[in-house]
Amino acid sequence: MIARRRGRVAPAGFVGLGTMGAAMAANLVRAGFSVTAWNRTPGRAAGVRQLGAAIAATPADVARAAGSSGIVVVCVSDTPDVEAVLFGPEGVAAGAAEGLLVIDCSTISPAATTTFAQRLAERGIRFVDAPVSGGSEGARNASLTIFVGGDPADVTRARPLLEAMGRTITHVGPVGSGQAVKAVNQVILAGTYLGVAEGIVLATKAGLDVEQVVEALGGGAAQSWVLANRSGRMIANDYPLGFKVALHRKDLAIALELARELGAVLPVTALAAQLETGLVGRGHGEDDMSALARSIRELSGLDG
Ligand code: NAP
Repeated sequence: MIARRRGRVAPAGFVGLGTMGAAMAANLVRAGFSVTAWNRTPGRAAGVRQLGAAIAATPADVARAAGSSGIVVVCVSDTPDVEAVLFGPEGVAAGAAEGLLVIDCSTISPAATTTFAQRLAERGIRFVDAPVSGGSEGARNASLTIFVGGDPADVTRARPLLEAMGRTITHVGPVGSGQAVKAVNQVILAGTYLGVAEGIVLATKAGLDVEQVVEALGGGAAQSWVLANRSGRMIANDYPLGFKVALHRKDLAIALELARELGAVLPVTALAAQLETGLVGRGHGEDDMSALARSIRELSGLDG
């Protein structure tokens, strides 16, 4: 399979080898794509290099290696970071040939996404936004859920790479709409995390066997990915990564800004964002976002 794909597919670049990007780039290599990758902090590229990816010195070099028929995937933290790796002096645009396609898998602002796509289009560079859901496990297992915004021809071109990184890939509309769907996803997640955290705290205060409660609820209407995959951390009050609290707070700021523009009222999202601001202020920004349970536990007097 790998040998068959090599040489037949467009070269693939990858910019940003963090928790998500390193695992996603590794899956592109495993699927047989000829990958050239870059990460700001060079040490984080070691795993992908061992699998067979070439490591470039700059994002511009990643774009050069991809050429006009190639595709560059970006997965960095926030809106200014995407702008930096695309349009900085050694950014993707500086090395891109006309015809290159950029797939942005970061979670960033839908409005900025539209602007970035326009700026790239002025140079003949194509763009789709493809933010992901499914956590670090989904990135490792190539089972991500991906919301794709872009022109149909660009989305078709992006699809083989997306299918190597994810399982459920939905083209949701024009450029920017992938990010809007991701904002909806993060709003729903905020409520789910808070609900599960409150349930765990109530069960604990009631003296119940909390692990048994989780198992019992898993077959009923309260089941969710968060209950199944993150309640254990809340019970243990230990929050290894994961998905950083600071990144989810960033996502909620995007969602609340969109809601403000549209006149949507999101009280639960605003509450989650406030609790996350408190967590970041107390030094828990790098914890997994299941650390929302820390706040509920502390308010309930469970922890010192
Ligand atoms: P992460 O582990 O913190 O990694 C962030 C990556 O972005 C690192 O490679 C970092 O480089 C790079 N980066 C940040 N700012 C940069 C800049 N200005 N210039 C160049 N590179 C920069 O984050 P992550 O968990 O992989 O998340 C990446 C994106 O995926 C975020 O938008 C996040 O919201 C989204 N996401 C994450 C999850 C999850 O479960 N983790 C799930 C879905 C979506 P350095 O190594 O040099 O710091």
